[in-house]
Amino acid sequence: MSDFTYDVDAEGVATLTWDCPGKSMNVMSFEAFDELSALIDKALGDAAVKGIVITSGKDSFAGGMDLNVLARLKAEAGDEPARGVFEGLMHMHGILRKIERAGMDAKTNKGGKPIAAALTGTAMGIGLELPLACHRIFAADNPKAKIGLPEIMVGIFPGGGGTTRLVRKMGAMAAAPFLLEGKALAPAKAAEAGLVDEVVPAGELLARARAWVLAATDEDIVKPWDKKGYKMPGGAPYTPAGFQTYVGANAMILGKTQGVYPAAKALLAAAYEGALVPFDTALRVEARWFTKVIMDPSSSAMIRSLFINKQALEKGAVRPEGVADQRVQKLGVLGAGMMGAGIALVSAMAGIEVVLIDQSQEAAERGRAYSEAYMDKGIKRGKATPEKKEAVLARITATTDYAALKGSDLIVEAVFEDPAVKAEVTAKAEAAAGEDCIFATNTSTLPITELARASRRPEQFIGIHFFSPVEKMALVEIIKGRETGARAVAKALDFARQIRKTPIVVNDARFFYANRCIIPYLNEGIRMVGEGVEPALVEHAARMLGFPVGPLQLVDETSIDLAVKIAKATRAAMGEAYPDSAVDEVIFWMAEQGRLGRKAGAGFYEYENGKRSRLWPGLREKYPAPEAQPALEEVQNRLMMAQVLEAVRALEEGVLEDIREGDVGAILGWGFAPWSGGPFSWLDRIGAARAVEICAGLERRHGARFAAPALLSEMAERGEGFYQRFMGEKAAA
Ligand code: NAD
Repeated sequence: MSDFTYDVDAEGVATLTWDCPGKSMNVMSFEAFDELSALIDKALGDAAVKGIVITSGKDSFAGGMDLNVLARLKAEAGDEPARGVFEGLMHMHGILRKIERAGMDAKTNKGGKPIAAALTGTAMGIGLELPLACHRIFAADNPKAKIGLPEIMVGIFPGGGGTTRLVRKMGAMAAAPFLLEGKALAPAKAAEAGLVDEVVPAGELLARARAWVLAATDEDIVKPWDKKGYKMPGGAPYTPAGFQTYVGANAMILGKTQGVYPAAKALLAAAYEGALVPFDTALRVEARWFTKVIMDPSSSAMIRSLFINKQALEKGAVRPEGVADQRVQKLGVLGAGMMGAGIALVSAMAGIEVVLIDQSQEAAERGRAYSEAYMDKGIKRGKATPEKKEAVLARITATTDYAALKGSDLIVEAVFEDPAVKAEVTAKAEAAAGEDCIFATNTSTLPITELARASRRPEQFIGIHFFSPVEKMALVEIIKGRETGARAVAKALDFARQIRKTPIVVNDARFFYANRCIIPYLNEGIRMVGEGVEPALVEHAARMLGFPVGPLQLVDETSIDLAVKIAKATRAAMGEAYPDSAVDEVIFWMAEQGRLGRKAGAGFYEYENGKRSRLWPGLREKYPAPEAQPALEEVQNRLMMAQVLEAVRALEEGVLEDIREGDVGAILGWGFAPWSGGPFSWLDRIGAARAVEICAGLERRHGARFAAPALLSEMAERGEGFYQRFMGEKAAA
């Protein structure tokens, strides 16, 4: 089966239409590249063809490269994986460069055939790098389309010439948001930014591209960098402007990545070194840096977790087999507070009819008004339209009347975190909705199996744990109670897919998975403050591990009264076995001081006009520093192991059923060092033996909470990795 079709019209314009069979979006493979190459040869070699338009047969142009291809290049090159990757890249560069040069004379730049890209919609990654090699890019005026280079988000960088071409096209400074942050834009904005050349009405896309091809002159199709006297926009590195850009970018990247993401550094190196040499050499430089990144374990782990496994989970990798489509038609949301309002919003945006219930009409309306405010903000930013807002709001009925739940096929409860209140609304809602309705609770701490007791149909009762703010956080944690049946799981997964969240499915145990791991991280940070460890050391140690926020900041954000509440409830549930008195000492004291976190304008940090200013000096007075501060590595090991060991225990106890969910959930749920690929990937990187060794030292110095779980010790003895043991991957070399 071929991915491209070829057609020459009466005027001599060849149209290459990219249309991967059986896929909703075009994805580039090496086979497809070769096919494209052969068709380009055919068009360039045919005297009757005057020019070429490359377009798509779908409503999007292309989603990007099939990242599995990179793994294959490595694997197929045997003992020389780096050579395999590099040669694969150079082969691709050769094809793109052939398109760019289009048969023109190397010296005179004359005699080439114009090649235009006509983007029907979204063009990401190689889907933009290929157009960048063409002579003019037309984009259909499709406001839903996204155009950009998102590679950096999965731990690589644009390696199909995108880095080299964009820097030469717009200058390093202007290219930075697209290359370094993976910023993607709708067509109109992409044209303003210079990513594409022209935005045209969708119905005229091909005609306009063809007309351009027929009218283009020799001069029109020579890239600026292939002309004599080319000057890099914004200045080459050794000009006053360029110098400032690169020195500044270097500092900015290190500040943002703390040096733990190899891709950002490599990207900058490729851009900088590439800017000092001729274009074709720059492509080789880009390919070398790209190869280096691909060979770094961090990139493979990020690609595995943030691309391959994230997508697998989104596509239902853990969905129970044989259960019919459970997509939600009508959703009931109980409780229109912070979470309920967010759940109603994302569901209405996904086209689901929502009944939003609260105790008073006023509270319910307030929940609905959250969607209104959100859509208004979207309109202001040009991301939504008044029609879209009306449509979203029309789907949300705010009421106090449970009878409105009739016909709902899913109910999500997000009332106060109180078992009695939850039991009451569960009974009321189940009585109002039909027999088939699935009931989900958004509890963050209460066991699902206990809450299910209030249900008449515990097999239809499940936990769907959202993270705050719902519209931003990508993860939902689906929790099976003891009696939860397969249809409830399928329903929760199909719902997650509708609202475009990434789901993980876990079993019922205290704090499920995400909170179970986050709480020890926060506690370890607080515990260290109580021991007199410099609070700044704690925070920086976390940031330098690649955590977006340090534990103390995170506690401030989620509030100290919440920490107190959870501590009290956990202590009551665990009794004598409760291990965190040293943590409680600090947070109870903070609460007494009224330092409840960001919302109170005072917590571990000080705040000025709502902005975090500095760590509160009162901490040092209350918990004076010992003579010597611990080494950075000790602090980092404590923070890391506190979370990672909890993830291993969750796996050992069967709370987690799949390490992929453990890794993806950790990154999306609480920002666990994304560069590492997640806790299990991180353990594989250092090796179980080294992990056990670190644990032994920490256990000796800090107590039993750092004892290596039996599973980890066993793996250390066998020299096994998690992905090897649980996913059947080959042992790391
Ligand atoms: P919230 O206090 O903002 O909202 C709760 C809402 O429930 C309020 O509007 C309240 O009026 C309403 N309510 C209370 N009793 C009711 C009843 N009998 N009938 C109808 N409505 C009733 O709380 P929240 O932060 O939205 O949390 C809701 C649930 O979500 C809790 O179980 C919480 O543990 C969980 N959760 C919260 C977060 C978070 O970050 N806030 C994250 C995940 C899960």
